[in-house]
Amino acid sequence: MENRRSPAIAAFVEALEEQADFAQVRIQRIGTAFELRHVADRECPADSLASVPFNQLRALAQDTADGAFRPLKSAPNLRTGWRFDARDEDQMTGAIDLLYPGGITDWHSRNEPDHVTSYKRHTDRQTGMYRITAMLDKGSAESVFAACCAPRFCLKNRRWSYDGAVSVPASEWDLPCLEPCAVLMEFARKAVRITQEPTADLPFSVSELDTLLASLSDDPITEPTREADFADPRNSRRRALLDQRLRDAREGIREQPQQ
Ligand code: SF4
Repeated sequence: MENRRSPAIAAFVEALEEQADFAQVRIQRIGTAFELRHVADRECPADSLASVPFNQLRALAQDTADGAFRPLKSAPNLRTGWRFDARDEDQMTGAIDLLYPGGITDWHSRNEPDHVTSYKRHTDRQTGMYRITAMLDKGSAESVFAACCAPRFCLKNRRWSYDGAVSVPASEWDLPCLEPCAVLMEFARKAVRITQEPTADLPFSVSELDTLLASLSDDPITEPTREADFADPRNSRRRALLDQRLRDAREGIREQPQQ
């Protein structure tokens, strides 16, 4: 039977020589077969890693090592300690698609601005509960992108901006982000709701702002809350957004002329 590969898969296979790191997966060619493992396990003997069958790869990508659901498959928290032996190119690309759904197609479109959807275009066509995401002005929206898409939260390289496409430095195996994802949209919705809440008039001094910023800085992705639970005030992305607001406030104080 004729093997009808998509242009994206054909290009991915053609670009792969001996070895490549795609997001957190190392792909190693072994003759006509391949071995996939976590990049952090690159030095581990193969027999020290658990051999995972193809039909378990989706489940592997579902949860972190601590058992927390991974709403964003491009988050840098893919678990370690496994390997997958792909018998051929089709099984290798199928495995990548289970670990990074749509990743090969996006990779193939990484240099095509026509495939990019800006935040404004994406939110202007939202209906229902996500319509309010269009209410964020450009500055507020960019703060949301910076907090939500930071490398510690997502390995994708964002190619869109508030109102267009952006050109960014990228490696050959770059995993591009071509449009706002569901996690970002939910975060943007929460950010709009936060701006609509009553505010407190709290005149913090520089030192007090520094203390607040220091307390926010110790915030690895191994947070106690669920990654996309934006109702939780301890959520890491909410803390990152607040961190930016506080930094802006601190800069504003510094710019005031000395009396
Ligand atoms: S929108 Fe941001 S968080 Fe979502 S996939 Fe793209 S870069 Fe990652």
